[in-house]
Amino acid sequence: MNLKQYIREIPDFPSKGIVFKDITPLLNSPIAMEEAANALMELVGNQKIDKVVGMESRGFFFASLLALKLKAGFVPVRKPAKLPADKISITYGLEYGTDTLEIHKDAIQAGDRVLVHDDVLATGGTAKATCELVERLGGEVVQCNFLMVLELLNGEEKLNGYEIRTLMRYR
Ligand code: IMP
Repeated sequence: MNLKQYIREIPDFPSKGIVFKDITPLLNSPIAMEEAANALMELVGNQKIDKVVGMESRGFFFASLLALKLKAGFVPVRKPAKLPADKISITYGLEYGTDTLEIHKDAIQAGDRVLVHDDVLATGGTAKATCELVERLGGEVVQCNFLMVLELLNGEEKLNGYEIRTLMRYR
């Protein structure tokens, strides 16, 4: 199955000049969802995973499916002021301004083997910050996987040193 047929491209969203990759048609198709979840599992192979970390919000869909299939815990990484318990934060630079992500302190135990998942790897800022949060809690990032990588934004370079896997590539 060519999963790209389930990705809708929306020009000038959320701002002019950006062609947004909309994954909702994929989410809307049980056949495509199953195919994508199985293909992501193949990317992980038989590596032991203790926790799957998904980033708010589109990372949550497949990260929780993967956690269930891997018999691992699911951990949400969230935007500021969403998580209720003790947490740590990281602030990272964007082209204009900064963004912050948070994780519960007790979500990862030292030595946990962690799979990081998000829908899209663009500049890599989100994934890099997430890996740092995991590592500050003593977790080991075993793999970062994505539904798609937007190659022109060089996110893979930013994640240099991590194992990066993706189902689809766009230029
Ligand atoms: P990065 O931090 O620049 O790599 O951006 C990745 C984050 O932005 C991910 O959490 C994605 O959900 C989101 N994102 C960036 N571009 C797109 C897109 O075209 N479609 C859907 N999400 C996107």
